[in-house]
This record gives sequence, C-alpha cells and structure tokens, in this order.
Amino acid sequence: MTAQQSQPDVVVIGGGPVGSYGALHLAKKGVSVTVYEEHPEIGVPSHCAGHISIRSLRSMGLYPLPDGIIENNFSVANFYSPQGTKFSLHLACPVTTAINRAKFDQYLAAQAKDAGVEFKMSTRVESLLKQNGCVKGISVKGADGSKADVNSKVVFDAEGISSRLLRQAGLRTLNPRGLVYAVETEIEGVQDIEMDAVEVYFGKNIAPGFYGWLIPRPDGSAKLGLATNRGDPRAYLKRLMTKHLVASKQLARAKILTAGYHAISLAGPIGRVYAGGFMAMGDCASQVKPTTGGGVIFGLTCAREAAKIAAQTIQNGDVSANALQPYQKRCDELLNFDIRTMLRLRRFINSLSDEKLDEMLRVVGKFGVDKALSGVDEIDYQGKMLMSVAGKPSMWAALAYFGLLYLGSH
Ligand SMILES: Cc1cc2nc3c(=O)[nH]c(=O)nc-3n(C[C@H](O)[C@H](O)[C@H](O)COP(=O)(O)OP(=O)(O)OC[C@H]3O[C@@H](n4cnc5c(N)ncnc54)[C@H](O)[C@@H]3O)c2cc1C
Repeated sequence: MTAQQSQPDVVVIGGGPVGSYGALHLAKKGVSVTVYEEHPEIGVPSHCAGHISIRSLRSMGLYPLPDGIIENNFSVANFYSPQGTKFSLHLACPVTTAINRAKFDQYLAAQAKDAGVEFKMSTRVESLLKQNGCVKGISVKGADGSKADVNSKVVFDAEGISSRLLRQAGLRTLNPRGLVYAVETEIEGVQDIEMDAVEVYFGKNIAPGFYGWLIPRPDGSAKLGLATNRGDPRAYLKRLMTKHLVASKQLARAKILTAGYHAISLAGPIGRVYAGGFMAMGDCASQVKPTTGGGVIFGLTCAREAAKIAAQTIQNGDVSANALQPYQKRCDELLNFDIRTMLRLRRFINSLSDEKLDEMLRVVGKFGVDKALSGVDEIDYQGKMLMSVAGKPSMWAALAYFGLLYLGSH
C-alpha cells in the first residue's frame, strides 16, 4: 500500500549542488521544500573534477567558501597537442579554483537545511504524479522498500544526467549523440608540474571528442580524468598515462587511488525545461558548457532563476505551464548566446586532425593570443568572453587563421 507524506510546496528530485541550491533559494523566499536524494550521504559518490570559476562562484554568493572545500587555485592552463606541443595561458591572477565536490555539495545542503529545507535521504523518486497533464507530485521509495506519494505544487527536477523523470513530464530528454563518457580518478605521485596550472591533453588517439585533464594539489596528489565520445575512457586514460609525450613523464610514478565513471552531456540545453507544475535544471536539462563539460555554475544559475519564478507562481496560485514559461525565457537569455558559441567551438575542435591541432597550438602562441587573453577572468560565458577580446589585433589574426583552418577541415 502507498502511504501519503506531508505536502511541501515544492519537492526537489536530487540532492546534488543544483537541487540543494534551488531548494535554498526557494526556502529563502518562504516556500516549503523537501529534497529527495537516493543516496544515504550528500555528495557521495563524487564524479566531478570540481574545477570552477572564482568569479562565477562569487556571483552566486558562494565565494569565499569555508575552509576545507577549496583544494587549489589556478592562474595557468597548459594545453598539449598529441605531439607534445604546449600552449600556455598565464592569467594575471587566479581565475579558477578546484573544490572538493563532496564537501561543496554538503555545504550547499547544510545552507539549505539552515534555511528550513527538509532532506529525505536514501529515498528514490520512482515516478511523477500527474493530473490532467500537469505534474502534481512524486512517488518515492525508501531504502526499506516502503513507498509513498508526495503531492506538491511544483516539482524541481535536479536528478542529474540520468534524466529518467524528464520524459514522464513530457520533455525531450538528453541527446545521446552529445554524450561523452568520463573517467575521473584521484591520484598521488605527480611530478614535473606547476602547482598553479591545470594541464589539458588533446588528441584523436588521446581523448577523441574531448580531452584529458590533470588538476594538481599542493601535496602532490591530483585529480586526473579524461572523457571521450568513442570507446572506453579507461583504456584512453591508460594510454595517456603511459604513451603521451608529456603526461607519461608527469605521471610516471603516479598511482590511481580511486576511479569513478560518469557521462557528460555536451549537446547544449534540452529544448524545453518546464511543464505544468514541473521545472528541470542542471545536468538533467543539459545546462552544461559544450567546450569543457562544466555544469555546476550553469546549473546553479538556472536553479536560482527557477526558484524565483516558482516562488512567484506559487504565491499567485497558478503553476500551470503558461505561468512557468518565464523560466524558459530566463534560461535562454542567460545561456543561449554562450552555449551557441561553445557548440561551434566544440565542433571546430572535434573536426581538427591531430596535425591541425598541433599546428593550432603552435600558431596561437606565435600570434600572441596568450597575451590577448591574459586579462580574462571569465571562463563560463565563453561567447561574451570572446567578444570582449575580439577587438585585439592578435585575436583578429588568430580568428582569421582559425576561420581558414575551419574551412580547410570541412
Ligand atoms: C568526470 C566529470 C568531471 C566534471 N568536472 C566538472 C568541473 O570540473 N566543473 C564543473 O563545473 N562541472 C564538472 N562536471 C559536471 C558536474 O559534475 C555537473 O554539471 C554537476 O554535478 C551537475 O549537478 P546536478 O545537481 O545537476 O547533478 P548531480 O550532481 O548529478 O546530482 C544529481 C543528484 O540527484 C540524485 N538522484 C538522481 N536520480 C534520483 C532519483 N530518482 N531520486 C532521488 N535522487 C536522485 C543523485 O544521486 C545525485 O545526488 C563534471 C562531470 C563529470 C562526469
């Protein structure tokens, strides 16, 4: 028999960063919220490199963070071609930070709890409750097998990339052709690296469709990962560690301590993110950068917007699809220009042969692109970032060169 649980205004599916942050903003507006998380502990297992823009964290009201969450800060990025050609970008000050994702997620959940949000752990949302085409709540299953229905005015779907419940709301789910498959490891014993630099390894035989990354910590440990749109990322990671001209030296003594596997959606946001009584946000709505796979900031940004709009519609007593439509408009306004630019960049990079990639990394250094970009502190909104530097002569030369390269590769 299915029991009835108390009825919050909003139920949130998923206690990841996006679910907790959305819940926090709802609670701040006086909305009653319950978050349902299928795992027993927030943030565990973690599958993320946690490489985030400091400027964006600040704009979300999340910087500085409490002690123990930040692992390192970076002002340098080194990009390597498969032949070992290196292009270094030195920025004027630290622009990105590596966070411990489990602790970050726990911090957001604690903030939400302090604001009055209830968390139901080890409770999986099995399905959506619907009435006359509108979402009216969720059916949940506890770890002990007990089942319950929970009615709500609005459901926030922040279930991550599984995106299983989206379909039930009548929304289009993730484009499988936009997925890359990632392995993320914790390693120790890294050598020959700069502590304030993130390492990025490109190549069709290294990480087809994406890249490998190394994010060091001052104690010699690091996060090492790789994603690919073809084949087994573990096999590619092994090859990176043993065969890549540069990485094999940096990782010659490295030992993998833990490894996790997860997909990343690079196809850009799903077309529609709302339905009657329902709003989707974060990875399940593919609010993710197509260039880097970073999804934390875009997910948090959209969750905050969703909270504002949901609180207003609940107060007005109308949570129909029509009333929630402004959420779509805000997401489009905030992300579409940059996402479109990043989709073009992703297609461009994917289209390059290893030889062209090598040539590109050599040429951008010669054009002085590193100097043109050295004042940049924006890595999330890459369309606007490129616009801000596009007027510099070195960027004109580089863009003309990339244009020719693009035409030559089609
Ligand atoms: C290898 C890798 C590296 C990455 N590196 C970065 C990076 O450096 N920087 C960055 O910005 N982004 C990175 N990302 C992306 C980032 O991890 C995601 O964008 C971010 O976690 C999205 O948050 P979310 O809350 O939408 O989803 P998630 O973090 O996936 O959280 C979803 C939560 O929902 C829960 N859940 C799912 N289904 C149910 C259900 N039916 N019932 C109850 N609970 C459910 C899950 O257990 C989970 O806790 C990376 C991703 C991968 C795979």
